[in-house]
Amino acid sequence: MVSSSSLAGHGRPKVVVIMGATGCGKSRLSIDLASHFRSAEVINSDKMQVYRGLDITTNKIPWADRRGVRHHLLGSLDPNDGEMTPSQFCFIGHKTISSIASRGNLTILVGGSNSFIHALLADQFDPEAEARPELRYDCCILWVHVSPPVLQKGLPKRVDGMLRMGAFDELAGYYDLRRTDPGAWAGLRKAIGVREFDRYFEKYPPLRGHAWGQEDAMERDDDPEREGAYQEALSEIKENASQLIRQQIEKISELSRSGWKLHRLDATKAVQLAMAPEEEGSGGGRSRDVWGLDVVGPSVKIVNQFLQGN
Ligand code: ATP
Repeated sequence: MVSSSSLAGHGRPKVVVIMGATGCGKSRLSIDLASHFRSAEVINSDKMQVYRGLDITTNKIPWADRRGVRHHLLGSLDPNDGEMTPSQFCFIGHKTISSIASRGNLTILVGGSNSFIHALLADQFDPEAEARPELRYDCCILWVHVSPPVLQKGLPKRVDGMLRMGAFDELAGYYDLRRTDPGAWAGLRKAIGVREFDRYFEKYPPLRGHAWGQEDAMERDDDPEREGAYQEALSEIKENASQLIRQQIEKISELSRSGWKLHRLDATKAVQLAMAPEEEGSGGGRSRDVWGLDVVGPSVKIVNQFLQGN
C-alpha cells in the first residue's frame, strides 16, 4: 500500500515512469509494480494503443493480464477522431495524473512513444527544442533495457505469435472497412502492419463474410506467388519493427544524455530465456524467476526509495 503522504514530492504528484523499446516487458512490469504497491493506476503512453481497435496488432496488454489494475488511455479513444498529437496527450495526461492523485493513488506511466512521454513530463514542452532535465512531476524513471540483438532476434516469433492470435483478421477487417469508408480509423493508419498488409490486400483482397485468416491460409497453400507476397509483408513488418526498436533506444539514450535520470534494469536474460524453446514446455518458469530477480525486485526497491524520499 502507498501512503498518501508519500505521493506528493514537494507538492508535485509522484509519477513512476516505465520506458523501454517494444517487446522488453514494460506492460508486464507495470502490472507487477501496480500489484505490489496496490493503490496504483496505469496510464498508457503508446500512441497506437490509445485507440480502440487493432488490439492484437498494436500489442495491447490483454484484459486477463491486467489483473484488475485500472488503466487509462488504453483503447479509450475513437480512432475516427484522427491522430492524437503530443499536446493533446499532454492535456489529457495532466488531467488523468491529477485525478489519480486525488484518489490517493500512484500513477505508473507506461510506454511507448517517447514524444508523448517527453510532452507530458517536460516542465516546459517545446516539440522543436531538445529535452531539458527539468520535469513537471516528481518522477522515478525505470528503463527496462534488453540488448538490441536479443530484441531483434525475438521479432520473428513475436510477429508470428501476433498473427496466430488474430492480427491478420484485424488487419483484413480494417482494410475492408476502408473500402467503404477510406477515412475510417485515421488514428490507427500508421500502426506497424497496416501499410505492409495493405499492399498484400490490394493484390489479394480479403473476401467479405469469411474467416479471413483461415481462408487466406488455404488460398496461399495452393498459390506460391500469393504465399511469397504474404511472406514479403511479414518481412516488412519485422524490418519496420526492428527500425522502431532502434529509434526507441536512440530516443531513450537522448533523454538520458539531456539529464533525465533513468534507472536502468537489465531484462536481457529474462527475455532471452522466455524465447528459448525449452521454456515453452515448462510454462516459462525459469524466465519468470529471472524476471523477478533482475527486474521486479530491483524496481520495487527503487520505487520504495522514491516513495520514501521527499
Ligand atoms: P515519432 O514522433 O517519431 O512518431 P514517437 O516516440 O512519438 O516517435 P513511437 O512510439 O516511437 O512514437 O512510434 C513511432 C511509430 O511506430 C508509430 O507512428 C507507428 O507507426 C509505430 N508504432 C508505435 N507503437 C506501435 C504499436 N503499438 N503498434 C504498431 N505500431 C506502432
